[in-house]
Amino acid sequence: MSCKEIYPWQANLLKHMYEIRKRLPHALLLRGCKGIGKFDFALQFTKSLLCSTPQMDGSACGICQSCNWFMQNNHPDFRLLTPEQDSINEDDPTATAAIKIMRKSQISILQVRELENFFALSSHHSGGHRIVLIHPAEALNAASANALLKVLEEPPPDVIFILVTHQPQRLLATITSRCQKIDMPVPDAALAIKWLQENGLTDATLRLSYAGGSPLSVLSEATEGYQALTVISQMLMLGARLDPFITAPKCLALGMELAINTLQKWIYDLINCRLVGEVRYNIQHIKALQALAKSVNLSRLFDFQRKLNDAQKSATHPLNHELQLEELLLQYTQTFLAHMPS
Ligand SMILES: [Zn+2]
Repeated sequence: MSCKEIYPWQANLLKHMYEIRKRLPHALLLRGCKGIGKFDFALQFTKSLLCSTPQMDGSACGICQSCNWFMQNNHPDFRLLTPEQDSINEDDPTATAAIKIMRKSQISILQVRELENFFALSSHHSGGHRIVLIHPAEALNAASANALLKVLEEPPPDVIFILVTHQPQRLLATITSRCQKIDMPVPDAALAIKWLQENGLTDATLRLSYAGGSPLSVLSEATEGYQALTVISQMLMLGARLDPFITAPKCLALGMELAINTLQKWIYDLINCRLVGEVRYNIQHIKALQALAKSVNLSRLFDFQRKLNDAQKSATHPLNHELQLEELLLQYTQTFLAHMPS
C-alpha cells in the first residue's frame, strides 16, 4: 500500500485524529471535494492505527512489522473496498461492455460479503484495531450499501470503518447517520499554489483555478489531457458557430466524465460572466467568455446546465456517448441569441 506523506493542509486535522484515536467511533466518513487528498489521508491514518509502536505524535513508526505489512499491501487487519478495476480482463469475451463498466465503477455486494471472514478473525496484534477502508463510498450500489448497513447496525468489535467520499449525498442516509463525519480541509489558494510549485508546476495558478482549487487534480491530470482541454476551449469559444460533429469526438477523447465536466466548468463560467462578469475555472479565457456571455440566452443556458448535470450522472453508463455529446454540443450552440428563432 503506497502511503504518501501527509499534505500540508491536512496536518492539523491529522493531529486532531491522532488525539482522538483512543475514542474513535465504529465508522468515520471522510467527505470533501475531489482532488484534496482524502484517500491518502485515510491511508496515513489507517497506517498509524495499525502501527504497533506509534511515535509520540501518534504517527506510524514506519518500521514495525505492522507498518511493513501495510506498506506491502498485505496487512491481515486491513481490508480495502474499492471498485474491482484490477480484476477486469479487458479481453474477456464473456463480459459485455456494460458489465465491464459496472464492475469498474461499483463496489459489489460480494466484496462486502467477503468481509464476513475478516470479521470472524481476531486482530493480529493484541488490543489492536481492524480497519475497513471504503473508497469511494459512493461506488456502493443498492445491494452492497444495504449489506454494509447491516454490518454497521451491529458492528463487529474493534473494527473501524473509514468511508471516503466526494459525493456524500449519494450515500444511504442510514449509512451516513451511523458515521462520524469529518470534513476534509481544502487548501487555500496560496498554500496550494506553493505546494504545486514545489512539485514542479510552472503554471500553477492557472491550472489550480481550472481544477476548482483541488491541487491533486492538477497533478493527476496528464499533460496531454490539459492540452486536449485547451483545444476544446478553443472550440467552445466559437459559441453558436461551434460544429458539434467535429467537437464531440475531441471531447470524447478525454473520456465521458471529463468531457462533461469540461462543459460544466465552461457553462458555469459563462453563467457567472453573464451575471457578475467573473469566471472561476477558465481564467485564461475570461475575455472570450465575457464576449460570449453578451449574446447568450440565460434561461436556455440554465436548461443546458441541468442537462449537463443529468448527463454527468449517467456518464459511467454504457450509452452512445458520441451521439449524446453531439446532442449536448448542438444544444450549446442553441443557447446563443444568434440561434434564437426571430
Ligand atoms: Zn509501525
